[in-house]
Amino acid sequence: MLAVFAGIAARSYGAAIVSPAVGVATGIVGAANGAISGWRQIYAWRRRVGWWAALLDSTWGLPSVLLGLVAHAVAALRNGEYEASLSRRLNRHVYRRGAHLQAGYVFTIGNVISSAGDVDLPRRRKLIVDHEDVHIWQARGFGPAYLVLYVGWNLVGFVVGLIAWLRHGRQEPFAKVLRSWTYYSNPFEWWAYCRDDLWPPSGVVRGVGWRRRVVRPFTEARTRAHLGGQVGAEVGADVGACVEDRRQA
Ligand SMILES: [Zn+2]
Repeated sequence: MLAVFAGIAARSYGAAIVSPAVGVATGIVGAANGAISGWRQIYAWRRRVGWWAALLDSTWGLPSVLLGLVAHAVAALRNGEYEASLSRRLNRHVYRRGAHLQAGYVFTIGNVISSAGDVDLPRRRKLIVDHEDVHIWQARGFGPAYLVLYVGWNLVGFVVGLIAWLRHGRQEPFAKVLRSWTYYSNPFEWWAYCRDDLWPPSGVVRGVGWRRRVVRPFTEARTRAHLGGQVGAEVGADVGACVEDRRQA
């Protein structure tokens, strides 16, 4: 049923914003997301945020959702190991394996988090709910601009990083300088790292990037709620302990 409603919403949206032909394409994307998300029961219908997630995924957020469908396809072909405990009624899809740009790194696109890794580990689980989940909502909030801005920053960061590396006598490894400019300084990453209470990250070159936090870290209560199900209560306690350790450090 969700597939039908999401398909109709996405079709009307595409037809109204661009053209009837595009409306057919957006309708298919919306219906496909509705079918997969309805089957996996990801939307939290009892909470307002779940309705917002479904509405944005079927309209404004469609460009990212389309790429998310590709991530689903990769996961299906590569035994993605779907993680229901981090997905069901939490407005996102999480795969332990599947698509990634770099081995060992989590990859989030649209409402799909791939290559989440061993999410039985509390730190890994917190990364998913406090960092990767932020990217999902950034894509929903910024809509078509999200991908353009994210990739655009990478391109500008590459040029600025290259110039900075040459000007500062090549003291730091080139890859580290480049990563500091393209990745860590990216406002979308800055935002997500701050939410996860990890700003400044250890990999960033000194003197590069934003000094202050742009947003406060999520509260422990919010983190616990997003960890999902029974596992959430257990891991929530561990995450609480992690936060305490870090404060003491
Ligand atoms: Zn990130």
